[in-house]
Amino acid sequence: MPSDPVIRPIAYFQGARRHAVPQDRLRAVRHGAHRLREELLGAPPVPFYRSFDLVKVPYPTKYALREACDVPLPFVHILNRLFVVQFDTAEGRKTLLAEPLDRVGNAKTPFFERLARPLGGPDGFLPKRIWPAHNEVADALARIGIAPGDVDYITYDHLHTQDLRKWLGTPEREAFFPKAKLLVMRQEWASAKGLLPTQAEWYCPDGTKGVPEDRVIRLDGDVMLGENVALVHTPGHTEGNHSIVVRTEAGIFVTSENGVAAESYAPEHSRIPGVARWARRTGSEVVLNGNTLEGSVDQYISMVQEKEIAGPSQRNPDFPNVAPSSELANHPLSAAIRPTFHVGELSFGTPQGTAGVSAQAAQ
Ligand SMILES: [Zn+2]
Repeated sequence: MPSDPVIRPIAYFQGARRHAVPQDRLRAVRHGAHRLREELLGAPPVPFYRSFDLVKVPYPTKYALREACDVPLPFVHILNRLFVVQFDTAEGRKTLLAEPLDRVGNAKTPFFERLARPLGGPDGFLPKRIWPAHNEVADALARIGIAPGDVDYITYDHLHTQDLRKWLGTPEREAFFPKAKLLVMRQEWASAKGLLPTQAEWYCPDGTKGVPEDRVIRLDGDVMLGENVALVHTPGHTEGNHSIVVRTEAGIFVTSENGVAAESYAPEHSRIPGVARWARRTGSEVVLNGNTLEGSVDQYISMVQEKEIAGPSQRNPDFPNVAPSSELANHPLSAAIRPTFHVGELSFGTPQGTAGVSAQAAQ
């Protein structure tokens, strides 16, 4: 485990997945989730939490909602988001970015590269109009007064499509964030170094190549950052997947891409054609988002774990308080599949940065 004093291992889920009987694993994970939830609810909310829409992209329906959806539409749209979290520690206030996405590197992901090629590539006339960018990471940070040098940590729930070289630098390229360290599960980092063909479809080629090792903090399991942020290993969507868990003034938000929508965690309340019926028929309490199918049993357990940590949404208690990193979104090309409950951008508290924008301007 890392020697960074801000990072503290936690053991709520230790051994939970070693049970031979899957239902026993599920019970153990639920129990751990309730204990972690209690600890987080006993802590104050983080001083600042904000998410920004980055870009809406097409994504195969058969991956986003698996067999739960009845609509014969090949693609839905998902919105990639950036999360900016500040939290207090004995070492002072820290800034964590979750999911900073480099659109240039992202577009080199084989799946997306192939999709955009007949349309003239990601910068072609049509792709730029059909899938316009909402925000760029640098602009979003500038708007809330956070300078690149203020960022202490970056993290991704998993590394699909991500190009880390821009942010963390390589021997040939200066890092956008001069001091930020990557928090990543050891397995996810290892996976990216030698992908199987089914995985490679979804990873940016060379997206981690040349990133200095001293910028990478490999985690061997669940950790707390300060007293109100946790990174929890939630394997499934990928083996090294983790969830970003944050105690905010609106409850505990849990972020990953194991599910693409709040209703993926409460399919019985979904109005997407077929989903609630599928949930009743199969008895499933979650709908997996699986494009590389690295572990569906683990993913089911992880999604239950995530929703039990999150608890109910304060806006609509039919749905858990999840904030998917890529959220199912409305788009004219996929109008037949609309989210029943859209989490959207979130904003709590006041940012503290050195880029000279007053907190008032950031509201
Ligand atoms: Zn993914």
